[in-house]
Amino acid sequence: MEKTEKVETAREGQGYTAVIGLEFHAHIATRTKMFCGCRVTYGDEPNTHTCPVCLGHPGALPVTNERAVELGVMAGLALNCRVADRAVFARKNYFYPDLPKGYQISQYDEPICTGGHMDVPTSDGTVRVGITRLHLEEDAAKNVHTGESGRMHGSTGSRIDYNRGGTPLMEIVTEPDIPSPEAARATANNLKELLQSIGVSECDMEKGQLRCDANVSIRNPDGSYGTKTELKNMNSFRFVERGLAREIERQIEVLEDGGTVSQSTLHYDPETDEVHELRTKEFAHDYRYFPEPDLMPLALDSGWVADLESRMPELPDAMRARFVSEYGLSEYDAGVLASDRALARYYERVAAADGVDPKQAANWVSVELQSYLNDADMGVEETRVTPERMVGIICLVEDGTVSRAAAKEVLGKVFSGEGEPSEIVEREGLAQIGGDELGGVVDEVISSNPEEAERVENGDQKVIGFLVGQVMKRTRGSADGGRARELILEKLSG
Ligand code: ADP
Ligand code: ZN
Ligand code: MG
Repeated sequence: MEKTEKVETAREGQGYTAVIGLEFHAHIATRTKMFCGCRVTYGDEPNTHTCPVCLGHPGALPVTNERAVELGVMAGLALNCRVADRAVFARKNYFYPDLPKGYQISQYDEPICTGGHMDVPTSDGTVRVGITRLHLEEDAAKNVHTGESGRMHGSTGSRIDYNRGGTPLMEIVTEPDIPSPEAARATANNLKELLQSIGVSECDMEKGQLRCDANVSIRNPDGSYGTKTELKNMNSFRFVERGLAREIERQIEVLEDGGTVSQSTLHYDPETDEVHELRTKEFAHDYRYFPEPDLMPLALDSGWVADLESRMPELPDAMRARFVSEYGLSEYDAGVLASDRALARYYERVAAADGVDPKQAANWVSVELQSYLNDADMGVEETRVTPERMVGIICLVEDGTVSRAAAKEVLGKVFSGEGEPSEIVEREGLAQIGGDELGGVVDEVISSNPEEAERVENGDQKVIGFLVGQVMKRTRGSADGGRARELILEKLSG
């Protein structure tokens, strides 16, 4: 009754305000699993990286992966969290075939990190998203339904690949601070960028290394939180955005019809753009958490944390600011480069070289090279255009050997493995003609186009383009257009 009245007010009021909170699961970039020495792998033959610990054999004892703790704390520091002095692993009990122990080792009331935030740029300005907590846990194994995967042979049915079981995970929970689906997507992208940039997770979504649950509600007219629903397990941020938009619409429809939103877990189907209920809160799990008796609490010594903090790689925000001040880049260019650690590292190697203008280098790396990389779906570390070769190409332009247009052609050829920049220039005859030779060509063009030359002499700027075009034609494009223009003007006004 109370609720219905509030809804009435909301309907007549200034509209509806959505509130979103996100929960992320990210695989931690360790070589081995969370509590055993099995390798973390992707796409290997099923059930080839298992042992009594990750298969949950009775009596097998877990040992905490120290590197996973380190990387988890680093992520917490990057998210401005408080690092706990002490963290406790807990058993989260539930029964599912992909969980051989019958419980997941997680953290409950004493996680490693709490109380942080992340500043997320959105089209409506920067949104500060609170980080409630970050805790460590292990991933479950993977159910494989035959027919969906060619790797598992045999007849129909479900099978389990335990290779993933025990993979180190961090769960990151945000406060309900996110105002829109678009801001939710930006938050997710920002987090992904941050985790990747400090090397704590590769966040390859196709490998399931980063997954997101999205919680959403419509505020009550008095501003208090409404009942939330949860969209589970989304592995694409585009779908997070679309799913949330759809779910907000649905909740508003329910409220408009005088109903109430019931707390439930939903699945968003991008194919149909519909949400389906997976379970209502009545069927919510009671996980019966209790402290894991086989593991000691983690003692996170403040000296150890300070040492980790001092060894943290530069965060994207700091790097962006440095690129602006150190290399004179625009905020935009600095942002593009700083959002991709590998690209940023590459850029810095190019920008630092002798004879390279850092602003030119930013354009060559983030526009010209990047477009080849995008087309080939390739990372900057895989291309044949090494930083040294990129420097070579840029210097060819800066010392006047080739025109910009020719240099772009050289880049394309280096990219497709046709040789070193200087070789390509020579082989393809791309060098622009030198000063004297160019002067000669300009003289020829002027004498064979007397009418146009006279008009230029009389101040008609428009025909210069025609004369430059003639120079380019005679030199088959190997002249520097700007230089040719200067020479024409010099000769005709002098
Ligand atoms: P639960 O107990 O259902 O797991 P939590 O309080 O742990 O709920 O919150 C889980 C996630 O849901 C967090 O990301 C949090 O920000 C978000 N959340 C909590 N309440 C709301 C709400 N009313 N609307 C939207 N998101 C919410
Ligand atoms: Zn194992
Ligand atoms: Mg929760």
